Amino acid sequence: MRKKIVAGNWKMNNDLAQTETFLVDFKKQVFPEDVVVMIAPPFTNLSHAFTSMREHPVSIAAQNMHQNDEGAFTGEVSAKMLKSVGVNTVILGHSERRAYFNEDSQLLAEKVNTALKNELTIIFCIGEELEDRKSENHFNLIKTQLTEGLFHVSSEAWEHIIIAYEPVWAIGTGETASPEQAQEMHLFIRKTIEEKYSKAIADKVSILYGGSVKPNNAVEIFSQTDVDGGLIGGAALKVDSFMDIVNAFE
Ligand code: 13P
Repeated sequence: MRKKIVAGNWKMNNDLAQTETFLVDFKKQVFPEDVVVMIAPPFTNLSHAFTSMREHPVSIAAQNMHQNDEGAFTGEVSAKMLKSVGVNTVILGHSERRAYFNEDSQLLAEKVNTALKNELTIIFCIGEELEDRKSENHFNLIKTQLTEGLFHVSSEAWEHIIIAYEPVWAIGTGETASPEQAQEMHLFIRKTIEEKYSKAIADKVSILYGGSVKPNNAVEIFSQTDVDGGLIGGAALKVDSFMDIVNAFE
């Protein structure tokens, strides 16, 4: 049985007061036992979120980290710093980091190594642009992102890796991949991992879908065989809609 996971990526949203408002309500929720629930607030609120959710079955994730352990890297945050405030998971390779902060596969491979060395679980994001899909290059592109960013890790490391498939054209646009498109790509990702590693590893890795997941489409998306949950942006900012998605597994 693969882990079912729903993670909320807050992106650059929610200051401390807004975070507190969210958490006061979030703490009152009943979390399903068979779903791993995570939230990824901005750096400034990680410590507060961890302390606040300490007694609740919710993991605190970071949205990014630097590849070096320490040093003269003004404005950056290390894996060790994240761990020190209770973070156990880091999102790497989000398409917004790739597009706006020039994070390429080589850099991501370094970040992957640093995260693993520091015993952080990784949510590794991959996804194609609309142009790639139109030119039918989407499978190739996904395979390249996996190969260059992730396929250097050992078999053992896969215990700590979660994949998030987020087609860029579906992020924040209100347009989702159809359940069939999501299933097709998730199966392709699983087969690609199987070819490189093993069936046992491929069958165990959780593959999340991200891109305009909302309460009204989550049930159908999550019901697909190879979709093990979601990485949620906009709908994760409100407790009600996030919890509806957390509870969308049949
Ligand atoms: P939206 O759910 O807002 O489309 O964002 C998805 C995403 O990028 C999560 O990482």
